[in-house]
Amino acid sequence: MTDEVRNVIIIGSGPAGYTAGLYSARALLEPLMFAGYMSGGQLMLTSDIENFPGYPEGIGGPEMMIQLREQAEKFGLEVQDKNVERVDFSEKPFKVWVEGEEFRSKSVIICTGAESIWLGAEGEEEQKGRGISTCATCDGAFFREQEVLVIGGGDSAMEEATFLTRFASKVTLLHRRDVFKASKVMYERALNNPKIEIKTFKTVRSWLSDETGLSGAVLEDPRDGSTEEISCTGAFIAIGHKPITNFLEEQVETDEAGYILAKTHTMTSVDGVFAAGDVVDTRYRQAITAAGMGCQAAIDAEKWLEDQH
Ligand SMILES: Cc1cc2nc3c(=O)[nH]c(=O)nc-3n(C[C@H](O)[C@H](O)[C@H](O)COP(=O)(O)OP(=O)(O)OC[C@H]3O[C@@H](n4cnc5c(N)ncnc54)[C@H](O)[C@@H]3O)c2cc1C
Repeated sequence: MTDEVRNVIIIGSGPAGYTAGLYSARALLEPLMFAGYMSGGQLMLTSDIENFPGYPEGIGGPEMMIQLREQAEKFGLEVQDKNVERVDFSEKPFKVWVEGEEFRSKSVIICTGAESIWLGAEGEEEQKGRGISTCATCDGAFFREQEVLVIGGGDSAMEEATFLTRFASKVTLLHRRDVFKASKVMYERALNNPKIEIKTFKTVRSWLSDETGLSGAVLEDPRDGSTEEISCTGAFIAIGHKPITNFLEEQVETDEAGYILAKTHTMTSVDGVFAAGDVVDTRYRQAITAAGMGCQAAIDAEKWLEDQH
């Protein structure tokens, strides 16, 4: 432990974290960031981003995240590529433990994102970001006139399937049961869409690929284990997201699913602890919205620090 007390520690290095870093560095707060186990965040998994303003030709995810980091570091953001193990927000200054070392800070901005839940079927790792995605808004347009699968039975799955019919020639929605969690209106919208076929009692046993990428899947009927093959060049897994908040050990208030609740603007239930990006966002989950919230959290932290004097 050092005697140093930082003004602001930022946890997480996705678009929310780097934007918070850029703003707080430019406000001369000398921020310290712990980038975490996935330096650069979820966009490191994607090859083409076409919906972030300012890139008319699109940009690769890793390339964009390297640029965000460079920009924030240029103004003084200090980044350590380490994971935060636990925190103590019960008294000020706040304590943050990283690889056994204790760091202290007057304020903290949590930007740890939300992991998509994947199926874990055979062959999935190889096709992630190549044919298999968890975000139709992000990747749907890459599948024009192609046949795609959507896996899931909730509102997100219905929404993704309906959205994908704008691009795909056919959308097959697979669900492991014949009872849907989706609201009636969303389910019926999907059911009545001529481009969508709904198949119940289907799980993905494994993904198939050829030299061009994803080519299909082996489906299993969970009732009797029988299998069939289906061809597709794209697949969207829509079975939920899990916000990364376990290291907080319930020290800030979250909703039932674990998303951090913002109390006043971006401030959490703990005075001086702020949160931004997918870790608070149950709805939009986009790079631009995460970056926008990162900006808000940095401004909120700066004003809060000023008010403490
Ligand atoms: C395959 C895919 C494609 C996508 N494509 C697009 C797209 O084209 N356009 C778009 O706008 N959005 C896209 N998205 C969504 C976008 O990636 C997210 O909305 C965005 O990354 C959220 O940013 P964030 O900063 O909140 O969190 P994330 O990017 O999820 O970053 C979270 C960060 O927290 C860190 N972290 C977690 N736990 C700890 C810890 N204990 N200690 C320290 N650090 C920690 C991780 O290392 C990571 O750096 C895509 C998502 C996926 C999965």
